Amino acid sequence: MHNLSKSKMIETFSYSENELNQLYHQAYETKLKYVGNKVYLRGLIEFSNICSKDCFYCGIRKSNKKITRYQMSESEIIQAAEWAYKQGYGSVVLQSGERSDPEFVSFVTRVLSELKKITKGELGITLSLGEQDKHTYEQWFAAGAHRYLLRIETTNDKLYKSLHPVDHDYTRRLHCLQDLQDIGYQVGTGVMIGLPGQTEEDLVNDILFIKEKDIDMIGMGPYILHQDTPLKQRAQDYSTDRQLSLTLIMIALTRLYCKDVNIASTTALQTLHPQGRELGLQAGANILMPNIGLTKYRNLYTLYDNKPCREDTAEICKVCFENRIESINEKIGYHEWGDSPHFERRIDGETTTR
Ligand code: SAH
Ligand code: SF4
Repeated sequence: MHNLSKSKMIETFSYSENELNQLYHQAYETKLKYVGNKVYLRGLIEFSNICSKDCFYCGIRKSNKKITRYQMSESEIIQAAEWAYKQGYGSVVLQSGERSDPEFVSFVTRVLSELKKITKGELGITLSLGEQDKHTYEQWFAAGAHRYLLRIETTNDKLYKSLHPVDHDYTRRLHCLQDLQDIGYQVGTGVMIGLPGQTEEDLVNDILFIKEKDIDMIGMGPYILHQDTPLKQRAQDYSTDRQLSLTLIMIALTRLYCKDVNIASTTALQTLHPQGRELGLQAGANILMPNIGLTKYRNLYTLYDNKPCREDTAEICKVCFENRIESINEKIGYHEWGDSPHFERRIDGETTTR
């Protein structure tokens, strides 16, 4: 599958089981060739479920009055990140609901500066804090963040509209991605897969977008129901088997089409299948994000139902991930940032699509 055209990619969604296994195998070979068999760990700290937005699919949207809101303290976040640093995790991801008030912006800036100081600049820091103005992104970059994850969610702007209230703007999200790249972040984006109203062509367009925008890191995962969200009412055709196979096909196609990028095998995949994350690695993904936040908050960061590992500690997650990775004969890249070769080529000016 060397010359992947759009129509060829759409066809893969109708493949038989045999053909799909071949597709995953080819994607895996491509992964070995371009990024190797090392899995990089990003310790995930979900530090607050307070959100000012109201995305129709998300369990922590501001209109969900059924959840208790929390915010980890500066020292709780620093302790969790320090633990990851001492374990040899190359980097951590700080994620939360979206807020852009001045207290929040300076809180994050302080945490970043402190983390850089105590880890002597060695710990990689990724942010996933939603849409912000360019000045805020610049401030956080200057304080030590070097990667940013902002999913576009879907590149079909009509579908985007149907998933969000009117004041959530697709164009703004695109601008944010551009700002992040202009500032010099290593930028990650991705989409939700299997959304109500999403076609196979939409999904293939998402992959074309990722390539066209020269994206370095891809975090895409299945859409999963959350009982207290408006989108659940519109998801009559939802089936976990379909969500799983759509996601694995998307990971494989993205690996085959974009080649040297980092692709995450997300927690949401494990919600669909006990070995979901391993299946993702075997279909071409090379990044895992073990949760390293405090157990007492995990039940409250419920973007979707049945999130796995809710009762586990960071220590349990570490051993569990090591076993999972070993079971498929891959290795963990401890003490390495694990930047994607794509990013390195891009900053060296070798890519031309931007
Ligand atoms: N507030 C930030 C970061 C936290 S949400 C932001 O929105 O960017 C991180 C991601 O969780 C979102 O980008 C979305 O793709 C995903 N998510 C939210 N609800 C989900 C659901 N029901 N199923 C699967 N993924 C979901
Ligand atoms: Fe908030 Fe992010 Fe959930 Fe949207 S997806 S409601 S911005 S946490």
